[in-house]
Formats: sequence, structure tokens, C-alpha cells
Amino acid sequence: MPEHHKVAIIGSGPAGHTAAVYLGRANLEPILFEGMMANGFAPGGQLTTTTDVENYPGFPEGVLGGELMDKMRAQSERCGAKIETETIEKLDLSERPFKLWREGASEVTDTADAVIIATGASARRMDLPGEDKYWQNGISACAVCDGAVPIFRNKPLVVIGGGDSAAEEAIYLTKYASHVHVLVRRDVLRASKVMASRLLKHPKVTVHFNTAPTEALGDGSLLTAVATKDTKTGEQGKIDANGLFYAIGHDPATSLVKGQLELDSEGYIQTIPGSAETNVQGVFAAGDVQDKRYRQAITSAGSGCMAALDAERYLAELEEGVATEERTNADQPSK
Ligand SMILES: Cc1cc2nc3c(=O)[nH]c(=O)nc-3n(C[C@H](O)[C@H](O)[C@H](O)COP(=O)(O)OP(=O)(O)OC[C@H]3O[C@@H](n4cnc5c(N)ncnc54)[C@H](O)[C@@H]3O)c2cc1C
Repeated sequence: MPEHHKVAIIGSGPAGHTAAVYLGRANLEPILFEGMMANGFAPGGQLTTTTDVENYPGFPEGVLGGELMDKMRAQSERCGAKIETETIEKLDLSERPFKLWREGASEVTDTADAVIIATGASARRMDLPGEDKYWQNGISACAVCDGAVPIFRNKPLVVIGGGDSAAEEAIYLTKYASHVHVLVRRDVLRASKVMASRLLKHPKVTVHFNTAPTEALGDGSLLTAVATKDTKTGEQGKIDANGLFYAIGHDPATSLVKGQLELDSEGYIQTIPGSAETNVQGVFAAGDVQDKRYRQAITSAGSGCMAALDAERYLAELEEGVATEERTNADQPSK
């Protein structure tokens, strides 16, 4: 027989654990599936892949990413959440109770009246030679997270990408860098006119068109340069740089809900603005899986809190028999 839960949380980053803390304190006995290297991440999510986190409130000296997630996990358990180190492989959201299949199971293993999807996202990588060696030792996919780190201060940095996020990241990095080189594969920027013009006019930025990185070079412990290639002529080059920032997009972990929840054109779950509600009543989304703009631990935690409070209200209405099956048009997630 499947195990029934009032509410199941899928994902174990700041969003999932914050939801677990709130739902546990509300005596709803949430179950949290933390995953077994789901989507390539250990339980605890993206922060387990980094060292110092300096912008999470409450830690004036900073905190190690892994330590922060261990603390969140302990807090979830202390507040009454049950944590299972399992990956959810399949979901059926077509009717309530919602059905869940743990990895490897042929039959439904769990059912739930409400589900919170907090499966996160991952930054796209380029698989360059040297990338694994210098990842987090000069290579990053988050300027806001890592830009202020001492190894990047007053040093030349490289940003890869030609869209709005690349332009934003490059301009952000000018606060710390001696100079920022932006590598763009094509001969134009994809960024909006305003962002492109800000980037091109910036005295600390050089945009290298028709240029692609070919290798991350270093001294064995830290990145020192990026080898490049002209995408038209094939001519090889090298830019001395202590940092290499990827701004080539993220992939939200939405394969579980594809075809069941409304996703935007980039695959992010759409929520009703100002809430964590999806287009399926009783299903909520929190964290990077529904946020392509901020992608920070604190914003994920904040949306995990929203999802928990929305789920709590939904479960109360369900118990009172007032939850409606259909949403009104005004309540549909915005595109
Ligand atoms: C290297 C790096 C450094 C960063 N530094 C900072 C920083 O300094 N400050 C900051 O604010 N932010 C930082 N971030 C961003 C921050 O980590 C993310 O915004 C945040 O972790 C997103 O949280 P989340 O809860 O959405 O999910 P995630 O952290 O993405 O975690 C989701 C978890 O859910 C699990 N999961 C996925 N699918 C399933 C499934 N089917 N079943 C069960 N489990 C599943 C995954 O395995 C993962 O463990 C950094 C990110 C990276 C990659």
C-alpha cells in the first residue's frame, strides 16, 4: 500500500527545507524527498557545491554552503519533517491524492494531498578542457554569488554569453574586477538594446565578438587564463583572467512535471504572481525551479515559505470542503 501524506516536498535546497520547517511547525507532518544525486546534486542542492556563502543573513562571518544546508536539514527534522534520501522518479498530478513513485519502484509508493516542487535548477556548463579542474577555483556560474570573492578583486575576468544575463553579470562584475572581457560567439549581442548599449559603453568592459572559449588554463590550483578561438577565422587567442563566469543559461529540473504543470518557454514552472500556486490546485512550486530571475538561496528560502503557507491554507480549505476544483481565469499563472 502506498504511504499517504498530507503534504510531500520534492527537493532539498533552501526552498524545500524552508517549506519543511513551516509545515512541520504547523503539525502537518511533511515528508521531504531529498534526492540521491537527483539532477546531479547531492542532498542539500546547489549550495553543497560551493564554499563560502557570504550573503545569507544571520551569518556575519559567512558560512560554508554544505554547513548551511546541514543546518537547514537539522532544522527541518527538529520541526517535525520526515526526510527520505530518495529521488522521486515519477509523479501523477492528474487527480487527488497525487501519486509519487520513488526511484526504481514499479508501483506508486506515496500519495499526498498537496505537493511542493522544489527541485531546483542547474547552470549550463560548456565542458571545456580544464573546466572541472578550475570549477569554483576561478570558474563560476553566478556573479552575484562569487563576484566579491578575494581571488577576483582587481583582477581581469571573463564572462561568456551574449544575452541579458551575461550583460547584467558583466556589469555587476565591474564593481570588483580590473577589467571584464565578454566573449560572444556571434557578431551581435542577444541582450536587449538598453543592456547592450550599457555594456558596450562601459569603460571597464571589452566585448569580443565572434569569440569562443576553448580551454580554461591555470597554475594547477587556480585559473589564470582562457584560451579562445575566433569563430569565423579559427584564429587562436588567450586572455589572461583570474575568473571565468558562465552566463549561458540554467536548466530548471522540471522533467517530473513536464506536460502536467504549465511551464514557460524556458521550462520554468509558472506560478500565480505573488503566490507559489501552479495551475494545478494543491501543487505548489518554490525556489530556482520557478525563478529565472533572482536564483539566490534567500529568495529560494522565501518562496519555500510562501509555498508552505499556501499549502497549509489549501489543506485547511480541503478539510473544510471549500477548496474548489477549478481555478477562475483571473487566477491562471501569467506567461
Ligand atoms: C556554485 C554555486 C554557488 C552559489 N553561491 C550562492 C551564494 O553565495 N549565495 C546565494 O544566495 N546563492 C548561491 N547560489 C545559488 C543557490 O545555491 C540557489 O539559488 C539555491 O540553492 C536554489 O535553491 P532551491 O531550493 O531552489 O534548490 P537547489 O539548491 O537547486 O536544490 C534542489 C535539490 O532538489 C533535489 N532534487 C531534484 N530533483 C529531485 C527529485 N526528483 N527527487 C528528489 N530530490 C530532487 C536536487 O538533488 C537538489 O539537491 C549558488 C549556486 C551555485 C551552483
